Amino acid sequence: MGELYADVIVDISHEKLDKTFQYRVPDKLRQTLETGMCVEVPFGSGNKPIHGYVMELGDVCKFDPARMKCIREIVPGGVGVEGKMIALAGWIRKNYGATMIQALKTVLPAKKSVKKLEHKTIRRRLGREEVISLLGESKRKRQVAKERLLQELVDQETLPYEWVTGKLGVSSQTVKSLEKTGVIQIISTQSFRNPVRMESVEEKRQELSEAQQRIVREVLADFDGGKPATYLLHGITGSGKTEVYMRLIEEITQRGRQAIVLIPEIALTYQTLLRFYRRFGDSVSVLNSTLSQGEKYDQCQRAKNGEINVIIGPRSALFTPFPNIGLIVIDEEHEGSYKSEATPKYHARETALEVARLHGASVLLGSATPSLEAFYRARTGEYKLFQLKERLTGGSLPTVYTVDLRQELKEGNRSIFSRKLQELLDDRLKKGEQSILFLNRRGYSGFMSCRSCGHVMKCPHCDVSLSEHKNGMLLCHYCGYGEPRPKLCPVCGSRYISGFRAGTQQIEEKLKEMFPQVRTLRMDADTTKSKDSYEQILSAFSNREADVLIGTQMIVKGHDFPRVTLVGVLAADLSLSVGDYRAGERTFQLLTQAVGRAGRGNLPGEAVIQTYQPDHYAVVRAADQDYEAFYKEEILYREMLGYPPVSHMMAVQVFSKEEERGAALADRLSASARRTCFGGEEGGRFFDVQIIGPASASIGRINDIFRFVFYVKCPEYGKLVNIKDLLEEEMQRQPSGEDSVQFDFDPMNTL
Ligand code: ADP
Ligand code: ZN
Ligand code: ZN
Repeated sequence: MGELYADVIVDISHEKLDKTFQYRVPDKLRQTLETGMCVEVPFGSGNKPIHGYVMELGDVCKFDPARMKCIREIVPGGVGVEGKMIALAGWIRKNYGATMIQALKTVLPAKKSVKKLEHKTIRRRLGREEVISLLGESKRKRQVAKERLLQELVDQETLPYEWVTGKLGVSSQTVKSLEKTGVIQIISTQSFRNPVRMESVEEKRQELSEAQQRIVREVLADFDGGKPATYLLHGITGSGKTEVYMRLIEEITQRGRQAIVLIPEIALTYQTLLRFYRRFGDSVSVLNSTLSQGEKYDQCQRAKNGEINVIIGPRSALFTPFPNIGLIVIDEEHEGSYKSEATPKYHARETALEVARLHGASVLLGSATPSLEAFYRARTGEYKLFQLKERLTGGSLPTVYTVDLRQELKEGNRSIFSRKLQELLDDRLKKGEQSILFLNRRGYSGFMSCRSCGHVMKCPHCDVSLSEHKNGMLLCHYCGYGEPRPKLCPVCGSRYISGFRAGTQQIEEKLKEMFPQVRTLRMDADTTKSKDSYEQILSAFSNREADVLIGTQMIVKGHDFPRVTLVGVLAADLSLSVGDYRAGERTFQLLTQAVGRAGRGNLPGEAVIQTYQPDHYAVVRAADQDYEAFYKEEILYREMLGYPPVSHMMAVQVFSKEEERGAALADRLSASARRTCFGGEEGGRFFDVQIIGPASASIGRINDIFRFVFYVKCPEYGKLVNIKDLLEEEMQRQPSGEDSVQFDFDPMNTL
């Protein structure tokens, strides 16, 4: 038996995490030592005993074997917060595929030398009454940004400068002009500060409804009884979910524990944050992408030191190094942004469960349209299910009309607006009410469909749509199946067979042709490039600076617009036809959210769904706003074809600078996986595994790197992990360091 060596990292707060030292593993530890464990090692010339963490184990000695020191012992339980973070990194590495260093970098904030940051604070110089009178004036003058700032200054004597120019969307010029006129004063301080700091203005706590109370009681009873669990709270927008989160956070923090609240970045609007600040004041902090590395590190230190006990943020806030977490809330748990796009491709939902296990915390997932994963687990009893069925803010569900676009074409309407939508738009413009036009382009990837009969070209093997490629071929991105692009529809013979290519800009133009007086705002990837433009467009629309807001999926999240009484969905099935097993789920979620935008206020709402597939269950159920009916049909499809959550799936992506070498590597790895599962003496051990591909990835080449992919499906996640381990080992034996492999478990998109 050869020697075993361990790479040990002794200072995990070091900026360069890759600095490791190699030690020999003594025989007595060979069986027990695993990556991620905390060990005691002799360090430096004096052999001072210090603690370190095992990053990798291997049989290659990288230094002079005669001078190599030995690990002394395993430190039981690791040490405090850091031990938990390392254990978490180990879990991520194992379950998602990555090196230990990559996993560590995911969970630990990079230590950046935090310079004394200059922090500016805005302080009001006038009394409350004077501010209120100025506020009235700027309202009359429609000075929207100024109005927002003054509104905040009514209750707050000081506001953080970054917050005002950031989330509040007030330009620095506006701030300066208010300083000039003596309304405010800008104060600079040098300090480590909470990026958002506010005096808590006791927000009035709502008396919880009976249904809300029941949830709070049950979660707390489990927690106090030492049996924290995972809960799914299914409730439409406005049903009081956030109020439940806040009450639970209050209770949990009173018990000396900390809480993490995950909210998708796009929904982290200042209204949402304000609600939390008002309730929890200085003990809450926010983590988001606009913070600098230094500020992020600073936040982590504050969390470690117990200066804050609630953090709100997107996916990465999950790695806040709190000493003793009691509750993790994941709002809008169905959101795709909870899955990391970079290796390790972890999912925040699954990872939250592991964090909770390490700390003994409860996990509360909330959504109006739960992911199939979460609802499936609630059904199987793995999660406990709560439902809130009533909207507390009033307003009724909108009336929905589904328009068959094939019929429109047949009756001579070639416009992108159906006659029903034209009629209702006209009506709203006359009444001075607002409308939203939603272009569903999510995941759009050049599928082909017939405009006469709605037929979509699909793969005969995978039941997903084929994608159009430049070379005139239609390809399946799962299995590589291909066929030439047809000139006529194979079902009805029509010439109108093509992809759908309208963008938000064309829609805006067409709308203006039809209604020359219309005032529009557009929200898409182009108009929201600059920081804060997203919030600025939303507030301009809130302030009635436009009649119609046109946009992509961004507009269906967050924000309430009480004056919107009409929502038009221009091509509901665009997202239905992407070559992806989650297409139905995503379409249902988007349509449900879009339709739900209409009629939030006192006025009743209407929605028009334009589609080529009016009978598709995702469209029908969204029009009815009936989640459970949708779930029942969707889960049948997943069961039948063995897709998550019923089964599990691992995408193995191969990257190479040379096409042939990449293809050969993908062949070799998939063959090796097949051998392990079905061949050899132990053949049949993995009889329930299915291997599909390899094929060229949907985008076959990016930056001159060729990409290949194959899929491994199996009902047991653990077996996929086994196969991943084997492929990782095989990659280490690869001669060329230029090719690489990435793993994606239960992928969100076709790769
Ligand atoms: P969700 O998070 O499900 O969208 P919220 O918690 O934001 O719902 O509640 C929607 C609105 O209803 C908010 O304005 C909130 O203040 C109010 N609300 C919540 N719970 C209650 C309650 N028990 N009584 C009265 N109003 C409530
Ligand atoms: Zn046709
Ligand atoms: Zn296929």
